[in-house]
Amino acid sequence: MKKWIAASLAALSLMAAPLAASASEAAPAIDWNTRYTYAELEGQLTDISASYDDITTLYPIGHTWQERALWCMEITNYDVPAEEKTGVAVFGNIHGGERESGACAMYFAWWLTANSDTERVSEILDNYIVYVIPVINPDGYEQSFVYNNRPNLRPNDANGDGVAFSDPYTDIDGDGYIATLYRGTADAQPERRGNPVFGMESCDWDKNGILGDDPRTSGIDMNRTFDYQWKRFDIETVNSEEGVIGANAYGNGGPAAASEPEVQAVQNFLLSHSVDALATLHTGIQCVLYPWCYRPYNEEIDTDLVYMDDVASRMAAAFQETTGRGFYYMQSYYDYPTSAELIDWSYGRLNIYSYTIEVYNGGKSADGNIEDCKWENTLPEETWVFYSQDDLAAMGIDTANLTDRTGEPLKEGEGLWFYTSATAQMVDKAPEGQDVMVEGCKDALLVMIDSVPYGEGYTKPEYLNW
Ligand SMILES: [Zn+2]
Repeated sequence: MKKWIAASLAALSLMAAPLAASASEAAPAIDWNTRYTYAELEGQLTDISASYDDITTLYPIGHTWQERALWCMEITNYDVPAEEKTGVAVFGNIHGGERESGACAMYFAWWLTANSDTERVSEILDNYIVYVIPVINPDGYEQSFVYNNRPNLRPNDANGDGVAFSDPYTDIDGDGYIATLYRGTADAQPERRGNPVFGMESCDWDKNGILGDDPRTSGIDMNRTFDYQWKRFDIETVNSEEGVIGANAYGNGGPAAASEPEVQAVQNFLLSHSVDALATLHTGIQCVLYPWCYRPYNEEIDTDLVYMDDVASRMAAAFQETTGRGFYYMQSYYDYPTSAELIDWSYGRLNIYSYTIEVYNGGKSADGNIEDCKWENTLPEETWVFYSQDDLAAMGIDTANLTDRTGEPLKEGEGLWFYTSATAQMVDKAPEGQDVMVEGCKDALLVMIDSVPYGEGYTKPEYLNW
């Protein structure tokens, strides 16, 4: 079911150059190959909006558990009445660690403003209201500077000691990154496969002898918590010939449908703004996905899916052409079945044409084969470092009290191997070529905008016409 873009290899070049040169002088200068903190992104949004205050409005649509604002930048020509324009929305970074997706959304807002005097963009602003919410999960985004963190930060007590986040990951050996810990001896670097994790790098804040057993993460995947087919996983779906629908959503769907303030903010925003098409940006593969996530294609009722399939194919082709990296497209269910995703909610509840754009898959393909859909970058080498019990004691660890997660202490002569993955070493960096990535995503988003022609308007379900 994975659909490939026909790759014209001769035309593809990894040297695709950003086209930012045409930007007007008023545009704030931003290096798109830098990883910014959320506070820095807020500063950039403020700067962009101040430089283009005639065509932008910047406002929060809600707040996170840790009271970070969820900023929306609205971009349009305010001389044209709103009812004559079509709404389109871009959401970035619902998964905190997927921060390239936030950079892509930021760039789109920046590019539209910086090029607002061009014919191409002024025509867009005359006919559309573009809403860009670059980061839906700012708490997870910010936590990912410590360790890649997909969930939000709903207070969580993973080790049940009555204190939320009582043993957060902490860099105790001073290399700047968080390691996964394995028991072993100095002369034998452990295998990871089949080898139980001893703990995670931490100074054992809660003094229970188990390292890193209550980190700052909720365990909730917010893209499984929307109020549509929430936790759809029961005895009938388990036994369904169509597969285990929602199994991937059950364990991390949160305590209730739309339980999270960030998700409520997105739903409330879309319920109160007329939007014809939206994209939600992720990383992990290089692909454009469309609904449904929760069930297979049904030829008799899913006529819209044929349309979204066509748009997705053209979005993926645009991304591939601009970046020189491979992209494909498919119905989300055939990637893997989930439920209560943003795009199923927005399409299922509000009839909004909805797309997930997966913008980045780190690493290199085999033999430079573009159909492997990799970003073709070099990631840091994983590292293994051994610390004896004396070394650990010097870092402040009470080794007499130290155990693995099952309560087994270190044996005599054993110490801990600190394994630091490539991902763990990328927490403070943007991947090389992110400036090309943001350009490719912009071109995919332009295809989406062009796919909802002016003035059609979406159909609000009758039950919402209060
Ligand atoms: Zn994601």
